[in-house]
This record gives sequence, structure tokens and C-alpha cells, in this order.
Amino acid sequence: MHDHLLIDGRLVAGAGLLPVIEPASGQVFAQAPRADVVQAEQAVAAGKRAARDWALVPQDRRTAALEALADALQAHAEPFAHMLTREQGKLLDESRGEVEGSIAALRYHAGLRLEPRILKQSTAELVVEQRFPLGLVVAIVPWNYPLLMLMLKLAPALLAGNTVIAKPAPTTPLTTLMLGTLAAEIFPAGVVQVLGDGGDLGPLLVAHPDVAQISFTGSQVTGRKVLAGAADGLKRFTLELGGNDAALVLDDADVGAIAADLFAGATANAGQVCLGIKRIYAARNKAEDLAEALADLARKAVVGDGLTPGSTMGPVQNAAQHRKVLDLAAEAKALGRIVGQGSAPAGDGYFIAPTVVRDMPESARLISQEQFGPLIPVQAYDDLDHAIALANASDYALGGSVWGGDVQRAMVVASRLETGLVWVNRVFDLPFDVPLGGARASGMGRHQGIEGVEEFTQTRIVNAALR
Ligand code: NAD
Repeated sequence: MHDHLLIDGRLVAGAGLLPVIEPASGQVFAQAPRADVVQAEQAVAAGKRAARDWALVPQDRRTAALEALADALQAHAEPFAHMLTREQGKLLDESRGEVEGSIAALRYHAGLRLEPRILKQSTAELVVEQRFPLGLVVAIVPWNYPLLMLMLKLAPALLAGNTVIAKPAPTTPLTTLMLGTLAAEIFPAGVVQVLGDGGDLGPLLVAHPDVAQISFTGSQVTGRKVLAGAADGLKRFTLELGGNDAALVLDDADVGAIAADLFAGATANAGQVCLGIKRIYAARNKAEDLAEALADLARKAVVGDGLTPGSTMGPVQNAAQHRKVLDLAAEAKALGRIVGQGSAPAGDGYFIAPTVVRDMPESARLISQEQFGPLIPVQAYDDLDHAIALANASDYALGGSVWGGDVQRAMVVASRLETGLVWVNRVFDLPFDVPLGGARASGMGRHQGIEGVEEFTQTRIVNAALR
């Protein structure tokens, strides 16, 4: 199911092959088709061609197509979840959750409607805001949630009447290619296309004059390149970029009640969650107990192959990420105090032992950069205002969380965090009807909710004199 690209309605071989490494073993386990420039040009031409007709397809038929894709994914949920674990590394249960979430995202967006908005209405005039699709959208996704991140682009873009080229990350192309085989049965030629690449086609697609919008999720570094690449064509774009989310633990927090949530917030998907907890600022009277509770959870974690029953944390996704997080762990040892550490299996898999470290200098990379691994820095603070300032002292501004016994007070603290999302006494609650996106350098534009569909449209004002 993952052997073909989907171009212009046909499942075709790639111009080349790309070895795909299983993070749990560090070994190549599959060859993915890889498109070349000629195939990318074919896909762009087909996507542009198909956009004219797809925009005219009645909304109900577009909805039915999204529902059909959700049904097909549901029917193949287990093979998708297994493949997701093999290519991405996450626990099988996490993969099942991602597949279920992807199905739910398709169904949620299928149920939305873009209605015209009446801006002025009287006996003399009618002014209406309508929305029309942009054309061909390129959806570029990262390797941490390959399916779910794609679905938050694919479903709203298609519903709004656009065509889509999906470009997965080169280290996790397989489930996206599998989705292509399902989409080939459902959508007219050129409406959904899948291009696997070797990490080389992004710039071409971003700058292509026939691409109307880039919907990008990935790192800040690449986001800047996408922005620059899209500038010449004055293209529409959505950027969902990285985060360095702080969790603020207040002096009235119940450590026993929140430690497991904080641990999960920092280590789900082996810490590779854009909205994961990357640094914890804990009130001095709570810091020691909290660090101990987290250290206990780290020691009990069973790091292993996501397909092995009993594993509670999988490997990180790729060799570069593995090296980076090991490097940060070494720096943590040198600059902070390790409170507790789990263990990681030996061998070639990209495993990292979850580690709790106290009181790093704020300049340490583990605090100042996006780590994307299962390392948990706990920074004690004496002054809440200072802790809030430290949480905000980052150009990353994706999410954050506040944890406290007095919810009203925690809400006030939350309203001082300058990020796109702040949770209070919870983490990872991401209902599809709530819009999602970063502030400052963590992104532009929104996913989810009706705003996430509007993102893939252009407004048109129709201004009529009624006489
Ligand atoms: P990345 O930026 O390296 O790659 C993302 C995608 O961009 C890949 O498909 C890659 O092939 C492609 N790409 C690379 N160079 C390109 C270029 N010059 N032009 C166009 N496309 C190019 O990101 P990653 O390492 O795969 O993913 C991890 C990052 O994604 C983290 O920073 C994480 O926080 C972020 N992320 C953000 C969100 C969010 O909603 N804000 C969600 C998930 C992940």
C-alpha cells in the first residue's frame, strides 16, 4: 500500500527510491518511492487543472468524499497504526490514537459549512462576504505526527474546494503514501496527490507559480525559508512552527495530583510534540517534591520498541534527533543536577532515557531552544512575576500551561502568557472545534475550527445597490 506516489489520479512508481529507517531498530525496513522534479511538475499541473472542477463540485459531494476517506481509513486503521509505529517510533497505542484522531478530523471538517456572511442589509443595499477556494494547496508536514498534521490541512482545504499535494517528511513517508492509495479510489484525478521526496522538493513546490497556498507545519528554521520562498509569488501561507512551552506550577498546586499529567505532557511521543511541555517553572515550595515525583515516573518508564507490549515510551524518530537530544542530555548533566533518570535499551534504536534535571542556567540550550525529547528541566522560582517573564522570554510562543489549586488565580496567570494556547490544570486537550496556532515566531494562521477552513479561502465582498 505504500509503494506508489499518487499523481493525477494514478498510483505510479517514484523516479527513485528512498530508504526508510525504523527508529526502534535503527535499520532500513522499507523503500519508499521518491518523486523527482518532473513528477513534481506533473503533480502541480494536475492539481491546478483539477482545481477548476473541484471548486464547482457541490459542497455535499465534497463532504461525502471526506466521509468516504474517513470510512476507508477506519477500515484500515490497524495496518495504518502498525505502519505509523514502524516508521515514526511512537507506541502502538499512540499510533492508534493518531489514526483515530485523523479519522475524527476528517469527519469533523466534513460537517462544516462555509456560509456567506451578510455585512449590511437594508431596503437600499446588500453587502455580503463570500468565500472562494484558492486553488492548489501544498501541504508540507513534519515527522512527529505525519497523519494527523496532514489531516488538519487536507480536510479543511478539500472541503473549501481546493486541491492538495501532500508532501510528507522524508523520514516518515509511508502512512501518507498509504493514504494516497485510499484517496485514489475516492477523489477525482488531481484533487488529492501524494509526493514522497528526499527532502529536496519543498523549495520547488513552495516557489512554484501554480501553487496558490502553502500550508506548512515544521520547524522555525524551515518556516522562515517557506516564508521567503512564498514571498515572490505573494502566496497565501499557514505556518505552524515549533514551541518551547513552559509549564508554570504555582505555590498552591497539588503535586501528587498533577505530576503524572506533567510527565505525560513532557514525554508523550518521546517528547516530540510541538505543544509538549519543554520546561517547568515550579514555585520553590513545590519544586523538590515535583522533581522527585517526575523522577520516580522517569525511573518507572519502560523505554522500548513501540510495537512491544509493555513499552511506555518509544524511541525518538531519527538519527539526527537522537544525536541532538543525547547532546542536550550531556549538557544537562554538566550544567544542572540530574534528579532521576530512566533507562534506555542498548543497540541501534534511537532510544533516550527520560531524565529530570533541576535548575539549569536559563541560557542552556535545553531551556532556551526547542528540545523535542524526553528531558524534563524543573526550574525553581521564588517570584511568580519573574517566572512569567522567563516563560515569555522566548521567540517561540506556541503554548504553555499553568497548574494551581486556585483555578481563578491560575486563569489570571494564564492570561499573562503570550502564547497561542494556554492550558490550565490540563494538557493536550485539543478539540477540533477550537482553533489552534502559535503567536510570534511559532506561526501564522490557524488550524481547526471554522477558522481552519477559512484559512484555505479568499474572501470576496459582493456589494449590491437594491434598486
Ligand atoms: P522540518 O522543518 O525539518 O520539516 C518539515 C517539513 O518541511 C518536511 O516535510 C521537510 O521535508 C520540509 N522541508 C524541509 N526543507 C524545506 C524547504 N526549504 N521548503 C519547504 N519544505 C521543506 O520539521 P521536522 O523536523 O520534520 O518537524 C519537527 C518540527 O515541527 C518541530 O519544530 C515541531 O515543533 C514542529 N511542529 C509544529 C506543530 C504545530 O502545530 N505548530 C506541529 C507538529 C510539529
